[in-house]
Amino acid sequence: MLRGFDGFAGNTRVLSALRRAAAPGSRFLRHAYLLYGTAGTGKKTLAAVLAAALVCTGEGERPCGQCPACKKSFGSLGHPDVLTFRTPEGKTQFPVELVRKAREEAYIRPTEGERKVIVFENAERMNAASANALLKVLEEPPPSVVFILTCDNLGALPETIPSRCVPLELHEPAPRRAEQWLLSAYPDAPPDKLDRAMLCGGGNIGRAVRYLEDEKAAAVFADALSLLQAMAGGREFDLLAVLARYEGDRDGLQQLLSAADRLAGDTARAAFLPADRIPAALAARISPARAEALHRLILDIRGRMQFNVSGSLLLAYLAGQMKGIMERPV
Ligand SMILES: [Zn+2]
Repeated sequence: MLRGFDGFAGNTRVLSALRRAAAPGSRFLRHAYLLYGTAGTGKKTLAAVLAAALVCTGEGERPCGQCPACKKSFGSLGHPDVLTFRTPEGKTQFPVELVRKAREEAYIRPTEGERKVIVFENAERMNAASANALLKVLEEPPPSVVFILTCDNLGALPETIPSRCVPLELHEPAPRRAEQWLLSAYPDAPPDKLDRAMLCGGGNIGRAVRYLEDEKAAAVFADALSLLQAMAGGREFDLLAVLARYEGDRDGLQQLLSAADRLAGDTARAAFLPADRIPAALAARISPARAEALHRLILDIRGRMQFNVSGSLLLAYLAGQMKGIMERPV
């Protein structure tokens, strides 16, 4: 996890606003912040850094990383005055009881310092009832409390919530900035691994990190790339060789299809994306119409996977259809 605002990529205006708000004795601090933006832009990480800054007792830039409060914030148990609420395992919405519990917590004095921070991750999962339970305290929290909400999809959030918060939008940083960030966060990673993670992430740092840390996901992505390259080059044998690796691995095949689908989608939109997002050779040989046909094929295969079709039959069908798409004049 990051230990300060410095390590965060891009989003300089949001960062400087939060830095200023968290400074000792700041006049700019507000009682509720809403961090929103696409998944993978670092909202939860930033919420944790901001929470640490708000309970930090250091004199200079906060979080200082040195004071006893920071040691707790960045330690394994966390700081007792930072409470994070997320939807329970297996649930897609915030139960209203959980929001009531958070509300009760807001009225209990902080145990250590002067301030208590209450974080709600994925606030868009609140339904009308849980949002209602939060409204009053969100509007006028006790003076010691700061709320931080994160949200992937502002449109899904009950509209009464954003008006009671300071909304701050996080963006995906420019590819070059994302690359610099990855290089500094993973100085020991081999360059080809970093390149691949950048490509897999498609400019999204969260996704790139997942590929760096998850060997299987990275290998599957590399296979999806080989699959599309084999298609682009009309190399049927290579295509079959990649698919053969997924014989008997339905989960892997699902992941392969989803990575291939995303690559095909990016290829179709290559003209509108930053130049380094997609290998140029792919964009040159897989036309938008072919990418669209591939997308429909993948939907079709996913549909068939729900029935108990044998894996080898499915792979043979997929290979045949992919070959057909490549041979069709477009
Ligand atoms: Zn500190």
